[in-house]
Amino acid sequence: MLNKNTEKYNRKKRIVIVGGGAGGLELATRLGNRLGKKNKAEIILVDAALTHIWKPLLHEVASGTLNSHDDQLNYFAHAKKNNFEFYLGKMINIDRIHKTIQLEELSSHQGETIAPSRALAYDVLVVSVGSTSNDFNTEGAKEHCVCLDSRAQADYLQKEFLNLYLQAQANTLIENEKPSLLNIAIIGAGATGGELAAELDFAAHQFCKYGLDSIKPDNVQITLIEAADRVLPALNSKISSLAEEELLNMGIHVRTQSRVKKIDEMHIYFEDGTQLPADLKVWSAGIKAPDFLKNIADLETNRINQLMVQSTLQTTRDACIFAMGDCASYTPEGKDRPLAPRAQVANQQAIFLEKALSAYVMGQPLPQFVFKDKGSLVSLSDRNSVGHVMGNINIEGFIARMMYMSLYRFHQVALHGLFKTGILMLKDVLAKSSRPQLKMH
Ligand SMILES: Cc1cc2nc3c(=O)[nH]c(=O)nc-3n(C[C@H](O)[C@H](O)[C@H](O)COP(=O)(O)OP(=O)(O)OC[C@H]3O[C@@H](n4cnc5c(N)ncnc54)[C@H](O)[C@@H]3O)c2cc1C
Repeated sequence: MLNKNTEKYNRKKRIVIVGGGAGGLELATRLGNRLGKKNKAEIILVDAALTHIWKPLLHEVASGTLNSHDDQLNYFAHAKKNNFEFYLGKMINIDRIHKTIQLEELSSHQGETIAPSRALAYDVLVVSVGSTSNDFNTEGAKEHCVCLDSRAQADYLQKEFLNLYLQAQANTLIENEKPSLLNIAIIGAGATGGELAAELDFAAHQFCKYGLDSIKPDNVQITLIEAADRVLPALNSKISSLAEEELLNMGIHVRTQSRVKKIDEMHIYFEDGTQLPADLKVWSAGIKAPDFLKNIADLETNRINQLMVQSTLQTTRDACIFAMGDCASYTPEGKDRPLAPRAQVANQQAIFLEKALSAYVMGQPLPQFVFKDKGSLVSLSDRNSVGHVMGNINIEGFIARMMYMSLYRFHQVALHGLFKTGILMLKDVLAKSSRPQLKMH
């Protein structure tokens, strides 16, 4: 005869994962194949978008060196193959008493309602909704800067960049028009800003190669702005100076110890009273978890809206709600800082939660998450990468570039397995040899 506890744990639990990004999609795939396939739990992934693109590729999408449509994955098709269910929807609230999440009304681009606001029940909830840019309420930042938080924003930046070249080309038909100059300002010289600057520099050379040569690469001034005293302030000073040297060699202007006070349509204004002209302005100076998480359902959050989690990745006030990736704040024992918002952290947490949640639904004790820092790599276009691996060994050049590229391949292996990743790699090599190096539409 079954006792009550066994009966309780035999009932199929529903695990709802909200956010199918670097962490959430890997977790849904793993749990689908481990628990969903054997009918041991119902796995549901919810995302506000229909397709996934690995966020660290967004600077390549923004510069046009990667076509976002080539590398996107459809959630419905992926869910079917990997034994979980997908729901399209944007979470706006959590009801901890009834154990439901609230999804926003779903509308078409024309504003027609596709689905009303609705509730979805969970037994276990994993929040993995990532992060957005943090402009620290800088005057004019929202109105005049583009951020790189989503594929839509990266596509928008690519179009804006292309339009400036098309406009300059059209102007050549106007008599006595002076040679065109293009000023690009990137605020924040962390990995995202540094990588974007290098990609845009590469794209400026490619435009010229393909005949959009009214703006010569020498007339494109890319300025990387940083409040700290060096670029890549989160990495060690040796890597920082290697990266700065490489960026300067490309002709990128680096402006450190410069705090932005205000931005308008044509300029960046600094606290020291100086200003910089800028046609295109990108904000990449910090992150925060999405605003709707702030004090959501009375869960504990920090000043950048991240959900506070314990070493099991359970939120501090609700054992049924877990959080991972950029929207979670976890400080390992003995450390004085929380883990940084990086794809590596999201990936290791997905691997951990696969095991932890399998134990959880069986009523077994939860293991503790231990983060192993495998280093940090920053891509400086397709020519170079810099970073440190295995503790603090600095690397640069070809090896660093290969290691950087393997990060995305590992994400693909987690989603598709080795064989399909091999096919995707082959497809990429063939596509590269048969299409322009830059998207110009
Ligand atoms: C340009 C760029 C370059 C980067 N390069 C690197 C790098 O080289 N190395 C590195 O380690 N990290 C890098 N990062 C950081 C890395 O991308 C993030 O740390 C990582 O993606 C975090 O994973 P995540 O699963 O927490 O969130 P994400 O990957 O951002 O996924 C969040 C998901 O949640 C969904 N979502 C959001 N809100 C809702 C909602 N309300 N309801 C439903 N769904 C929602 C989104 O649609 C998205 O699919 C880079 C980031 C950027 C922007």
